[in-house]
Amino acid sequence: MQSVPFFDYSRMHQIDANKYMPNLVDVLNRSDYILRSDLEAFEQELAQFIGVKHVVGVGNGTDAIWLALIAAGVKPGDEVIIPSHTYIATADAVKIIGATPVLADCDVDHSISMKSIEQNFSRKTVAVIAVNLNGRAASLRTISDFCETKRIKLIEDNAQGLGARLFGKSTGTFGIAGTLSFFPAKNLGCLGDGGAVITNDDYFASKIKKLRNHGRDSSGEVVTWGVNSRLDNIQANILRSKLPYLTQSLETRRRYAQIYCDGLSGIDELRLPEPPKSDSLRYDSFQNFEIEAENRDAFRKFLAERGIGTLLPWNGKAIHQFELPGVRTGSLANTESLFQKVVLLPMNQYLSEEEITYIVQVTREFYLK
Ligand SMILES: *Cc1c(COP(=O)(O)O)cnc(C)c1O
Repeated sequence: MQSVPFFDYSRMHQIDANKYMPNLVDVLNRSDYILRSDLEAFEQELAQFIGVKHVVGVGNGTDAIWLALIAAGVKPGDEVIIPSHTYIATADAVKIIGATPVLADCDVDHSISMKSIEQNFSRKTVAVIAVNLNGRAASLRTISDFCETKRIKLIEDNAQGLGARLFGKSTGTFGIAGTLSFFPAKNLGCLGDGGAVITNDDYFASKIKKLRNHGRDSSGEVVTWGVNSRLDNIQANILRSKLPYLTQSLETRRRYAQIYCDGLSGIDELRLPEPPKSDSLRYDSFQNFEIEAENRDAFRKFLAERGIGTLLPWNGKAIHQFELPGVRTGSLANTESLFQKVVLLPMNQYLSEEEITYIVQVTREFYLK
């Protein structure tokens, strides 16, 4: 039987090893570990790719969010509006600094709803975290206009959005800062944990640089409180080696998304994401291919029996469904109904076109037989 795992880490290494191994040997021979030249070079090269002034490498994508919140001036007791349909990390980051996550509903495109942001706004609201889920920009223009009017900060959790654009502008650059994750399965993954904060604001970047390194300035002098959250130089070296192939990987993902959209378009029981070329103002990077499927659990079982791995986002629960203390929740009707149907199909550049076609064929068999 054919087997299409949802994500195959060993296949990733087999395919990518020749891109990073020679440079990896070089950095090990140089014994350059912490805050060294490979990190600096990667930060500059990625900034150029994104079209942003500063990339500051930090320990992981979750640290990137809470460090950005601190740099944005968010204080204990403040409220930060985030979507309920996101990774728990977005909420963790708000919680860890003593602020309150306020959970907003999602829209038809699965990302945070502007209407729900408005409904949840209170006099304690100091920031919105828009999450560019699945490699698609949230309604960033509308949200950033709203934040400007209300004089609150916009931060983008862009862990899934690297490579995506809206109106020709990269996601992560619509507010004061954006955050990235280099978790191995992300669009640009390292071989462990890694993340970054991106910003066009010089002062904001200098704050993050101090925060990530014990509050020390470039001369090593302690000038403020800080922590240890640095993107390590070896991971930066690996990311630097993989960066030149990112555009090609994104194009592969978009090609696979098109095959899914073409092959599954006639099935009434499915709701698919917008095809990659449906909107010339958008470039979606398809970190995931998230669909809504009637009869989902039987569909997943049918695929599994034919060797195809699928995943429920966040293990099948939106944040409010974990019922953790200390969050504020408005009406989440769309998110509630979405989570009865939502499922992720395999989507990454390490899959072959034949494998995507096989998934389409098995899906058609399930719904149209
Ligand atoms: C992956 C991810 C994160 C966190 O990244 P880590 O590097 O694992 O800490 C945050 N938000 C979203 C939406 C993610 O997908």
